[in-house]
Amino acid sequence: METIIRQVREDSINKEVISEASKVLQEGGIVAIPTETVYGLAGDALSSEVSHKIYEAKGRPSDNPLIVHISSVDDLYKLAKKVPEEALKLADKYWPGPLTMVLEKSELVPDTITGGLSTVAIRMPNNKIVLDLISESGIYLAAPSANTSGKPSPTTAEHVIADLSGKIDMIIDGGKVGIGIESTIVDLTSEVPVILRPGFITKKDLEEVVGDVEIDKAILQKNSNKGFVPKAPGMKYKHYAPKADMAIVLGDDDVVIDKINQLAQDKMKECKVGIIATTQTADKYIQGVEVKIVGSRENEATIANGLYSVLREFDKTDVEFIYSEGFVEDELGQAIMNRLFKAAGHNVMDLR
Ligand code: AMP
Ligand code: MG
Repeated sequence: METIIRQVREDSINKEVISEASKVLQEGGIVAIPTETVYGLAGDALSSEVSHKIYEAKGRPSDNPLIVHISSVDDLYKLAKKVPEEALKLADKYWPGPLTMVLEKSELVPDTITGGLSTVAIRMPNNKIVLDLISESGIYLAAPSANTSGKPSPTTAEHVIADLSGKIDMIIDGGKVGIGIESTIVDLTSEVPVILRPGFITKKDLEEVVGDVEIDKAILQKNSNKGFVPKAPGMKYKHYAPKADMAIVLGDDDVVIDKINQLAQDKMKECKVGIIATTQTADKYIQGVEVKIVGSRENEATIANGLYSVLREFDKTDVEFIYSEGFVEDELGQAIMNRLFKAAGHNVMDLR
């Protein structure tokens, strides 16, 4: 299949491209779209046939449900059986934005996109290209991240091209995304809302609006074999993984740097070694290792934004083992560490 690639920028949207993409979607095609979190692979959420195409292009297990993207809060009433007060309050404060809400699904939503669950995950993305596309096409967009299943999520159109070119109908290149990690997912079907996937909207942000919020215990554990099974089906799979093996070292900066240098010195005898460092620490590593800067410790958002790119950059090198520094698991740090633990297959050395 030949994949159409079109460039659009949010501040000067080319309407012809939106019309072209709408048509592809209306005819049952699948289109990669930029969002503020990561690139998504979008198709008609109400069509089982289209959802099969999405799962197939990504190589994603079909029990892993898809998030439905909408362009107006009113759409909630079509997709959800009931819309709780909390959902409206959260939508009011954080939509459009990086927050996905899990609600009881309506009859309209096919089982194929919910992996057979009776709930549906819904989000209104903060990207004008996508909002225009949903409004113009009149199609709710099922859109998982636009990567091959298991690989780091795409934060540029180039990442999408690398994974999906030739497998999907169209890619809208909207430039580099703003946030760089996937949306926060909050389950509103239980008494107390539960965070199923940490993201840019933190527990504190949610609690400001709806009071007590819990975090699914399974998502923050460093070792995957402690017996918790994550409630979001997708969170149990190996994910975000670079080609190289990876280990994370946790502790105070100086201790971590010394330890990584020591480990790297040994490992270099076997293979090429890479290090994920920060602006503050990058020059403290030994010669002969490939150091990449993920972001600045003074601004966690830069780390979230650089994470998947750095992992994909290593895929282009001959590095076979990566050591990564860790980050404080507070607020946004929780979302970052959740992704890092998974990328490393939960291979963690804790020196704290
Ligand atoms: P992605 O589309 O790659 O951002 O991944 C979507 C995530 O949302 C996966 O971890 C899914 O398991 C999760 N998800 C989607 N729908 C539901 C749902 N109804 N209940 C719980 N988790 C969901
Ligand atoms: Mg994904």
